[in-house]
Amino acid sequence: MQTPDRTRLLQELKNQLLFLKDAGYSEIPSESELFPKNISIPKPNPIKIMATSKKVITLSQVQDELGDCTRCKLSQGRKNIVFGSGNPKADLVFVGEGPGADEDEQGLPFVGRAGKKLTEIIEKGMNLDREKDTYICNIVKCRPPGNRDPEKEEIEACNPFLLQQLKAIQPKVVVALGKPAASTLLGRSVPITKERGTWHDYKGFKLMLTLHPAYLLRAYTVENRKAVHSDMKKVLKELSR
Ligand code: URA
Repeated sequence: MQTPDRTRLLQELKNQLLFLKDAGYSEIPSESELFPKNISIPKPNPIKIMATSKKVITLSQVQDELGDCTRCKLSQGRKNIVFGSGNPKADLVFVGEGPGADEDEQGLPFVGRAGKKLTEIIEKGMNLDREKDTYICNIVKCRPPGNRDPEKEEIEACNPFLLQQLKAIQPKVVVALGKPAASTLLGRSVPITKERGTWHDYKGFKLMLTLHPAYLLRAYTVENRKAVHSDMKKVLKELSR
């Protein structure tokens, strides 16, 4: 088999094992029926895949598993993987779309113009501390070239890691910033201006949809600012329950 195919297959197998681990499997049973009945073959030990209880992973384990990722073509143009930043035990997680140029340069999410707006929403609007009270990440961890929208395969390759991040953090509330994040998490095309401010379920996590800070900067109207303010008030109310 060609080396790139083999590498891809191994990566897919690794992803699959990660899913199984996440689903609570701690071993893969051996299939003794695969062998003819009259041949006696010593039973191999089951392959151990680490998980021992439901909540077994930590953020750093998820990051280790992601490694120097080459699962999709975004890896070819990136400078840095933008895994996420903030408190690994935060009650509140913001999920954006993907790193831009500043984020790619620094390896940190939301550090450019949109990031400043998000920090302002968190610190001035919600009276929280960005680093202590929140964790921030994206649906794709590498910068799409020219800031284009991430493609389906790119989102799919990254999605298991976002889910693992949330399972490691166990936040009370997840906020999807903008249409791509909301659509990815809900698995359908979300009309964000209509559905913002509404609660949803994402794999057992409470999910609030709101406008992306970059959109807010582009369409800086009283109406949009009020909308985000009202969405964040709902989030604060939920966090205080
Ligand atoms: N926009 C995003 O969606 N994510 C970032 O990290 C930065 C800008």
